Formats: sequence, C-alpha cells, structure tokens
Amino acid sequence: MAEAKTCTDPRCPAHGSLKRRGAVLEGRVVSAKARKTAVVEIPFVRRVRKYERLEKRRSKIHAHIPECIAVREGDLVRIEECRRLSRTKAFVVVKKIEGTKLRALPPAWQ
Ligand SMILES: [Zn+2]
Repeated sequence: MAEAKTCTDPRCPAHGSLKRRGAVLEGRVVSAKARKTAVVEIPFVRRVRKYERLEKRRSKIHAHIPECIAVREGDLVRIEECRRLSRTKAFVVVKKIEGTKLRALPPAWQ
C-alpha cells in the first residue's frame, strides 16, 4: 500500500497499536458514507441438509477504515476482527483485494 503521508491513526493495524485477532473475512464495500466506517457485505455458502443444496447467504459487517487505506463503495476488501471499536464495529479493513473474485464463493456464484 503506497502512502502519500504518514498514517497517524491509532486504530490502524499497520501503523497504530490496534491488535487483530479472530476472524478474517473478505467482502464487498456496500457503503462508505460514514467517515471512518465501511459497511462490508460478506457472502458465504451454507449447506441446507434437508434439501442437500447449497444456499448463498450474506451478512453485513461494519469495519473501521484506517487513514492509510482509501476505500470506496464497490471495493473488495479483507477485514480482520479486532477489539470492539464502537457499538457496531469490531473489525478493521486490512487491505483492498485486487481483482473481482472473492475466495469464499465458487466462481459461478460470484
Ligand atoms: Zn496506517
């Protein structure tokens, strides 16, 4: 990640003191309206045993955007769990993902 200026965000996993632990997820940014928060939609596949089929589901997670990462709606990002940062945030954006595919979904379902 190229930086134009120094990152002073204490909640930046790379330059601040924020520790990451727990889940690592990938998804698409569906809202970046709040100044330091992204709403990330996480698609995942769940097996429905009764019908022996796979079901595509999604969940929305609020994640902190560190100063040094520019995030826009539509971007694919990797987020990692951290301590609770606010009432709805316990994840931080770690990096943008290049390309258009998400690891969690089979190619036909992207
Ligand atoms: Zn930073």
